[in-house]
Amino acid sequence: MERPSEPSHVEAPTAATPTGAAAGPASGTTLLGEPVTDEPLRLSFSRVDTYRRCPRQYRYAYIDKLPQPPSPHLSFGSSVHGALERWWDRKLPDPPPLEELLQALYDAWDTTGFAGMEREEQLRWYTHARDVLARHHARFAEHYVPPVAVEQWFEVPLPDDIVVVGSIDLVVPTGAGTDASSGAASNGLGIIDWKTNRRAKTREQVAGDLQLAIYALAARHLWGHDPDWVALDFVVPGMRVTVPREEIDVDAAVAKVRETAARIRSEAFEPQPSRLCAWCDFRTECPAGGDEGPDLPGVAVGELRRLKRRQARDARRIDELKQLVADRLGPDALVELDPDESS
Ligand code: SF4
Repeated sequence: MERPSEPSHVEAPTAATPTGAAAGPASGTTLLGEPVTDEPLRLSFSRVDTYRRCPRQYRYAYIDKLPQPPSPHLSFGSSVHGALERWWDRKLPDPPPLEELLQALYDAWDTTGFAGMEREEQLRWYTHARDVLARHHARFAEHYVPPVAVEQWFEVPLPDDIVVVGSIDLVVPTGAGTDASSGAASNGLGIIDWKTNRRAKTREQVAGDLQLAIYALAARHLWGHDPDWVALDFVVPGMRVTVPREEIDVDAAVAKVRETAARIRSEAFEPQPSRLCAWCDFRTECPAGGDEGPDLPGVAVGELRRLKRRQARDARRIDELKQLVADRLGPDALVELDPDESS
């Protein structure tokens, strides 16, 4: 059952309709405002992942439904996803041209995270998104095959009255299966999730990825057999990390989902402070967060180290370029480029 209006980066709906903050139990609700209901507990990967990172953050986001401010990274991610979805969903026999992908980006561009930002800075984000998509097109146009599904919605019932919901970004044919009657290649599936992180994960991290294990489970439910492989496609660096199905532990993923569901039902929403608190949208509400987040100095040291490494790299490159310009054009050229060099 496909729901193209609910891409994977947008949170899935819940059967339960939370009533807001924990102001006290109303009739028919728990202490935390979650309605007492016989309905199954519907969990997406995002919900399970949020809970496992910090149960209190889960409560703020999904039960209290506190507002979360937009951010440039979220808007960038959702815009790139929207463009990819439209381009791949054409399902044409030949790859649609790059212009279509860029037009899709233009149409899908989400400005909410860039509000208040200088126009030039906004333009830099947009140009970066265009570059990322141009690279994606170059990577796949040559070997393009029409996908089996794009943003494929799934709802997989589990024991304990749980339903795992979500949508898979891209499902492609692998030709690895064999049709029993004709002997022709068929049925093989590859499952892909697009990521807009700046850095790719390692193969080990991808093999242990809960989201991909849930997608493998969903493929079994939707198509009656396992995918041949699952992959995270890191569209920004332009790298796909693929692991064969045998390396994905679906049973462990199901156990994690069931354990998480049990804890949510027991209303265990204790804060779990970590270095992520510094970026948490709810740190001012959270007793463990404080105004700055408990580990702001740690975060600052990490970023300082990163910037210093970058500074050293840039300095080395500047020296190389200076040498090249001086060798080819003479030392005076450096002075013309930057009058400060003369001092
Ligand atoms: S500030 Fe930290 S402990 Fe509190 S909800 Fe956010 S992530 Fe959890």
